[in-house]
Amino acid sequence: MKSTFFPHFTIGTDAYEAVPDICGDYGRTAVIIGGNKSRAAAEPLIRKVCEGHIEILGSFLYGDDATFENAEALTKIPEVQKADMIFAVGGGRATDTTKWASHLLHKPLFTFPTLASNCASVTAVCIMYNPDHSFRCSIYRERNAYHTFINTEIIAHSPRDYFWAGLGDALAKQYEVPFSARGLDLDWVQETGVANAQNVKNGILKYGKKALEAVDRQEVNDSLEPAILSIIVAPGMASVCIEDDLDSCLAHAIYNSHTNTPHKGNHLHGAVVNYGLQVMLQLDGQYEERDKIRSFAKSINLPHCLSDIGIDPAHPDELVKNCLHTKDMRVKPYDITFDMVYKAMMDIEELNRQGK
Ligand SMILES: [Zn+2]
Repeated sequence: MKSTFFPHFTIGTDAYEAVPDICGDYGRTAVIIGGNKSRAAAEPLIRKVCEGHIEILGSFLYGDDATFENAEALTKIPEVQKADMIFAVGGGRATDTTKWASHLLHKPLFTFPTLASNCASVTAVCIMYNPDHSFRCSIYRERNAYHTFINTEIIAHSPRDYFWAGLGDALAKQYEVPFSARGLDLDWVQETGVANAQNVKNGILKYGKKALEAVDRQEVNDSLEPAILSIIVAPGMASVCIEDDLDSCLAHAIYNSHTNTPHKGNHLHGAVVNYGLQVMLQLDGQYEERDKIRSFAKSINLPHCLSDIGIDPAHPDELVKNCLHTKDMRVKPYDITFDMVYKAMMDIEELNRQGK
């Protein structure tokens, strides 16, 4: 048996007004779980639309990271146990912790992303960490959120760097999924996921820069909504259809290697992933696409060479070596060797020297 749950969502400056109608079918009481800043931004609006329809029994901090321990602790809170449904408010880590807590309690889950940096609010997968904040595992719920409410006004006021990196991360989905899936004989659902992944790029290349300007100015413009759909919903529609192994490849492998390789500075996930994507497109000979991604990256100052991610361009050896064996590389269309990745990185450096 196979079940797939496509994301259901409402988006707009007035997205929360749909909450009573949509959530009302699942009960009369709810709890809000999220981060401190995200709850400060979203909770007053959620409480207002719920007045007279859904009683909010309480509001709780999710913890300090997406851990099983934090999810278990949430399930022990009496109001959480009593509520008919759970509202997850925040970015990826708050959302994933709450997703797992609601899975343990078998309660309907609704998500309210306050950042557009990944597709966590619409997918079934939870990315979990250890209490020391190191990566632990990804684990699947039986389904994704019942509905996702995306308030564009709140995202216009979110930290710009997360939005900026989110644009870079989403673009990787467009290329990593079909790259991993190349040559495989997939069933209908997975083919649909691969097709959905390839619906990310156009929205980001067309609207991403203007949408980032909206976040910089903290006001909604016409580009913000389509860009948010390309960061949150389009990758999510791919993710709910495909196996974990197809979800990422060399771009994310380079990011995961980067976290274990000494480097200068702090670099957000999506920024390093976007550099990794440029290397992957170079290695795979997709030069036209490489140029499109690099020109977009340059237009919003995403990394486009090794020094941009804090790695000495003369010594990427460790970064290359560590990326070859990450779990992202389990499914790939051909053998990828140290020399191939190293050469692709050097080719990108050369393009950069030529000002391309
Ligand atoms: Zn990513």
